[in-house]
Amino acid sequence: MLASLFRVNLGILFRDIQYSLQKSSKRKKFYSIKTIAKSTLFSHRVESAIATGSWTGERSGVTQNMDKTNYLSTISQLQRVSSMLPSDQENFLARTLHPTHYGRFCPIETPEGTEIGLRKNLAILSLVSTRVELDREKFLKDLVVDGLSIEGVEGTDVFFNGLFIGTVLNPEEFVVKIREKRRAGELPILLNVRNDPDLKNVIISTEAGRVLRPLIILENGASKLKNEDLVQIEQGQISWDGLIKKGIIEYLDAAEEENSLVALYEEEITPRHTHLEIDNIDLFGVVTSLVPYANHDQSSRLNRGSKTQKQALGLYSANYLCRLDTDVSILQYPQKPIVRSFVYDTLQTYPAGQNLTVAIITYEGYNMEDALVFNRGSLERGVGRSFYFRPYSAVEMNYAGGLKDEIAVPEKDSSGYKTEVSYKHLEEDGIIYPEADVNEGEVLIGKMSPPKFLSEAREISVRTKKESSVTMRQEEKGTIDSVFITEDEEGNKIVQIKTRDLRVPEIGDKFATAHGQKGVVGAIIPEEDVPFTSKGIRPDVMFNPHGLPSRMTVGYLLELLAGKVGCLKGEVVNGTAFSGASKKELEDQLEELGFSYDGKETMYSGVTGKKMVSKIFIGNLYYLKLKYMVANKLHGRASGKVALLTRQPIEGRARGGALRLGEMEQQALVAHGASLLLKERYDSDKILLPICTKCGATGIDDNIRDKTICPMCGSESIEHVEVSYAFKLLMEELQGLHIHSMFQLKNKYE
Ligand SMILES: [Zn+2]
Repeated sequence: MLASLFRVNLGILFRDIQYSLQKSSKRKKFYSIKTIAKSTLFSHRVESAIATGSWTGERSGVTQNMDKTNYLSTISQLQRVSSMLPSDQENFLARTLHPTHYGRFCPIETPEGTEIGLRKNLAILSLVSTRVELDREKFLKDLVVDGLSIEGVEGTDVFFNGLFIGTVLNPEEFVVKIREKRRAGELPILLNVRNDPDLKNVIISTEAGRVLRPLIILENGASKLKNEDLVQIEQGQISWDGLIKKGIIEYLDAAEEENSLVALYEEEITPRHTHLEIDNIDLFGVVTSLVPYANHDQSSRLNRGSKTQKQALGLYSANYLCRLDTDVSILQYPQKPIVRSFVYDTLQTYPAGQNLTVAIITYEGYNMEDALVFNRGSLERGVGRSFYFRPYSAVEMNYAGGLKDEIAVPEKDSSGYKTEVSYKHLEEDGIIYPEADVNEGEVLIGKMSPPKFLSEAREISVRTKKESSVTMRQEEKGTIDSVFITEDEEGNKIVQIKTRDLRVPEIGDKFATAHGQKGVVGAIIPEEDVPFTSKGIRPDVMFNPHGLPSRMTVGYLLELLAGKVGCLKGEVVNGTAFSGASKKELEDQLEELGFSYDGKETMYSGVTGKKMVSKIFIGNLYYLKLKYMVANKLHGRASGKVALLTRQPIEGRARGGALRLGEMEQQALVAHGASLLLKERYDSDKILLPICTKCGATGIDDNIRDKTICPMCGSESIEHVEVSYAFKLLMEELQGLHIHSMFQLKNKYE
């Protein structure tokens, strides 16, 4: 693909050169090739293809921006398989799960909505085949020895990478021989062979792009992975590759798996079985396999859980201090989960969450509709605190004709000079100092530019400069974290600044668990008002019990129970899906620790001190703070900027846009009887349109004679009608299509 991108762009470059040469030869003037073929043009095209992902041949999404919310989201993105099929068509077969997906693609992790099923994620152990080094001639010769006939004898057809290579009389024996050679290491491990007795053919494949999955080989009804191998693995004497070399594990593609019978558990093995599953969890992808007790959750909840895990704040990269990423946060005190899948330790991801004490209890109605009630004491001790980073940059450009930008404190006579207060943080070099606290609109990098157009310069004075400083974004505050000063290839000075903003959880911030149980903070309660147990434990979070029955997230409850055991014993609990510590084990351990087996405890009201009538389920759970924070969304405005064309308020928080009042909001206001408010809101682009009462055409203002007349019939009986500017625009666009529109005016009071 890179080659075709290069070829296409080189073609464009050649055509450009050809064109310029033809043009210059006509004029009898010759320039050096350096001026004709701008070296940057070619590299710019390649760079833009990589940056935007739209490559040659109308292929989009070839390159993507790496998701840096947390480390897990990065890993998950690297495991993603995107279909080329358009998302706006049904394509049912491509979207639904297929039996061959087992162990190859995660059945849970896929986006909801139009892309559902088209974006898949690889299962944890699956492997995509790559180019194989195989001497074709020698391989075919060896096949002849194994019974391949190239003389066109009747029998089963044999295909190698889609090409017919001969026939074979005893396909089963032939296939077994090839497999034995592969297991012995004589053939590449990525070679797969399938015997199809129904179609009477044997398919041998070494093609790249097949998804393979590893399985333990069975021999005479017994696993080839013996106990001594397990001991060796534990002692680190044998690696994964070693197991493959020893012929214990092999990779099968979907075709070869048709010839095999895979046992899920070792106890199930019969003489008919050919392979054994490595672990039950290998059907899941990276994200889903991390969910504790995932096998107890409803599938749709797990799907949502896999999404929330990728949005959790954590440590996205260990070198974040010297990186300039956009829209990233760092959780201040990330913890590894107490209850975790063994996959977690194998992956060695950076943590993104905290172990919180959770009580399943309602609290004064503040945790209705999935909201969470937080303990203020916990938040003050650091729960859910994060830093939000945003980079800003400015380049000191050198323009043609000796003009250049200047990074400095702007001069007072430069056009567009803000108030002196805006520049208060700038040092002599025009750059803000680290650790300065900045509010919205304050200048971070002072900069002056030469006037863009000559007319501009003539209007004011030749020496006047335009102020073009970089300021803090609207409705954002922060502290200057770091300042970087560098140079680009052309020698232009670059100043980059990173701001950091402390985010203590506030009402409206989103928290979630891996079980797809997400909610916003509904209230933050003073620590003394939080209910406590007989041991004096006050929960960090109070979760509404009504959030459980309809969601059926039993895994949530099990993780809570396991978390309690883990906390009390001070050890990590194995919560791997299918094989984690069982409910019975957890209950027994809780009883041993002197607690009620079901995790329930007597609790006392923090306000009155009274014992509560019912016992409360309390334990520990791994909670994730999601990247959606109120501070990033909070926005409001009075009148402000409008779009030039439609005169309607502009959109978007960053630009100081207005809030959209849609159809539903409008109806709510109508139902409420607030019609004046509605009128005010929809009047934002009102205009008085002069309309002729005789013929209904739009009138014009005759400024010379100072009267309004109708251009169609010349009548002076004109009424001004209030319409929206967008409507007037429509009228004018219709006029452009030669459609004349007329109005029939009626008396408002009739
Ligand atoms: Zn008229």
